[in-house]
Amino acid sequence: SPEETILAVEDLEKHFGGIVALDGVDLSVGSGITGLIGPNGAGKTTFFNCLTGFYTPEVGSITFQGADITGSRPAAVAKSGMVRTFQIPRELSEMTVLENLLLAPPDQSGERLSGAWLRGDAFVDDELSVRERALEMAEFFELDHLLDEPAGNLSGGQRKLLELARALLTDPEMVLLDEPLAGVNPTLEEKILDRIHDLEAQGYSFLFVEHDIEMIMNHCDRVIVLHRGEVLTTGTPEEVQTDDRVIEAYLGEV
Ligand code: ATP
Repeated sequence: SPEETILAVEDLEKHFGGIVALDGVDLSVGSGITGLIGPNGAGKTTFFNCLTGFYTPEVGSITFQGADITGSRPAAVAKSGMVRTFQIPRELSEMTVLENLLLAPPDQSGERLSGAWLRGDAFVDDELSVRERALEMAEFFELDHLLDEPAGNLSGGQRKLLELARALLTDPEMVLLDEPLAGVNPTLEEKILDRIHDLEAQGYSFLFVEHDIEMIMNHCDRVIVLHRGEVLTTGTPEEVQTDDRVIEAYLGEV
């Protein structure tokens, strides 16, 4: 049900020198599709990086599906069932779509995690090889006709589909998306949203940062508003959109 808490964050703080990027974030995220919004500099990217183990918070805790993952490395977080999408970096643009699907994402230092990232433990069904899972994802995201195409030749939307396919390879519980529709044409925008809703129906949950308020209104079950490193409010899209504090926070940026 949409009320079931899968991610709980308590009093999370992240500092960069004198800058307090996260100043005691408390929130819980249920299953379904949750949007994370907030004015520029609110701390959205920092929050994602703390959740997925790319940054270590100074204070606070992150509990995912009942397990404390605070300070866990990215590979361990991914293994626990929470993954984020990564932009296809320039150095991979000459590799084909299939080759990209067979690669693990980078770790904190920018190094690629070994193939064991996928092969190890429970990441992929025992009977299903990494390659089979990659082909399955390519088909689901309608990238199968592009498998031999260099990733650099893909359109913005096809790239986003590839990023999603890579994130889904490990069969996670929750996927974190950073602006899944940025630079995507309307046709592929619809395809991406359809796939996200298909996956939601299958039981996957999503947390995404998106600046497009229409997308938030039309596709999120819940919305969390960050402001100056703290949660300003949470609620349904309707509640959040009409909240005076939210309107004020955004107007304060102009
Ligand atoms: P935007 O919507 O503009 O991407 P955001 O909500 O993602 O913003 P963050 O990028 O998390 O916000 O930034 C939060 C605060 O932390 C800002 O003041 C930012 O300048 C600062 N900050 C983020 N990352 C770093 C870093 N690596 N070093 C120093 N300061 C940082």
